[in-house]
Amino acid sequence: MTPQSIDEIGSLGEIFSSFQGEGPLIGRRQIFVRTAGCNLGCTYCDSPRFRRDVEFCEVEDPPGSGLFRRAKNPVALSWTMAQILALWTVGTTSVSITGGEPLCQPDFVRALAMSCAAEGLPVYLETNGFSQNRFARLISWIDFAAVDIKLPSHRACPPEEWGQLVENELSCLRSASRAGVVTIAKAVILETTSLEEIEGLCSRLQGLDASLVLQPASGRGRPGPEKLMLLYEAASEHPGGVLVIPQAHKMMGVL
Ligand code: SF4
Repeated sequence: MTPQSIDEIGSLGEIFSSFQGEGPLIGRRQIFVRTAGCNLGCTYCDSPRFRRDVEFCEVEDPPGSGLFRRAKNPVALSWTMAQILALWTVGTTSVSITGGEPLCQPDFVRALAMSCAAEGLPVYLETNGFSQNRFARLISWIDFAAVDIKLPSHRACPPEEWGQLVENELSCLRSASRAGVVTIAKAVILETTSLEEIEGLCSRLQGLDASLVLQPASGRGRPGPEKLMLLYEAASEHPGGVLVIPQAHKMMGVL
């Protein structure tokens, strides 16, 4: 079955062209496709509007203008690809599929990744990694995987579900790394994030070929410099390397 043979539909929040503001690919131009809907509830969530379904998908056009066209959800894969191709420029490096949580719409996101790959557009998937099975179905069509590791202080899910969530996240990281995908493990750092949480995370990441990004929360709960230095030192022996990288797009005032 070719990616074009079924016009899958999905619920999207936004499509826009901007600069990657997080992680090791920071500063690279990407097309962002933000899915609507998420299964978690992190305290630091910076896109709460897209934790639920939304009526319209907004497309910023032209890029950087703050002007938006709207399309009623659900939108078709063919329409989504047309927006991506219209926004693509010579300097654009990849398509970032983000959320919300992309794995909440596994069929649409898989078809989207396949269609991007068929067009020769590299795919960067940002996910909370809650489903190892859904992630595994995507892996052949993605080039970069940034998996959020949820810590107890994030309160992303009920405490009794946290162990299973982290096991799934780690499985996603392992399968991405094994498949040769550029793999990034990201943990948001709050002022309440403890040394024990980061030490525990690093011991779980042992043997994994992935860079570890400690991302200071931008808004409420933002950690101070002493906290960041303490946690960086605790993670500094991670073999894949550790980086403290804030969300740069917020400093630039871009989407
Ligand atoms: S997983 Fe992402 S979108 Fe979902 S609540 Fe957490 S930060 Fe927000």
